[in-house]
Amino acid sequence: MLQFLFNFVREKTVTRKMEINGKDHQKIQNFEDLDLSIQELIESAVQARKLAYCPYSNFAVGAALRTTSGEIIKGCNVENGAHTPSICAERTAIVKAVSEGHTNFEAIAVVAFQEDQFTSPCGVCRQVISEFASKDIKVYISKPVPVRILCTSLYELLPYRFDSSRLKQDS
Ligand SMILES: [Zn+2]
Repeated sequence: MLQFLFNFVREKTVTRKMEINGKDHQKIQNFEDLDLSIQELIESAVQARKLAYCPYSNFAVGAALRTTSGEIIKGCNVENGAHTPSICAERTAIVKAVSEGHTNFEAIAVVAFQEDQFTSPCGVCRQVISEFASKDIKVYISKPVPVRILCTSLYELLPYRFDSSRLKQDS
């Protein structure tokens, strides 16, 4: 409990300094104000992070995808000694989901710890999520102790995204 309070106060004090991509961001909400289904998704990403295999970076990340049918599919980052085969938590979740027959998603939660900023999906993960974003997908970014949540979306994170569906229409 003491540790929780410590983390809570600590997060509150750094909230004003939180940045994403170098800019202040206005879309931060309190965890307890979010819908229970979103809280559940974030908690799932917190749990997924605990299984991260990251002996090289020691930077653990968890992700949780919500399918349009309501299921939650979790993922963590899995690193490799050869480095390039490493995969991010978000893509682990996507690959697991697609391989289980899910291709429609409404939200993804991403959890990691950086002292004074939210950990936003990398460019590769944004593109991979985009493949399954014929409609926008909500993105919730949290610290491992969810207090303040950055609420954004794939379309906001990847404006002017490459839309492969147009290729099919124009050919
Ligand atoms: Zn990534």
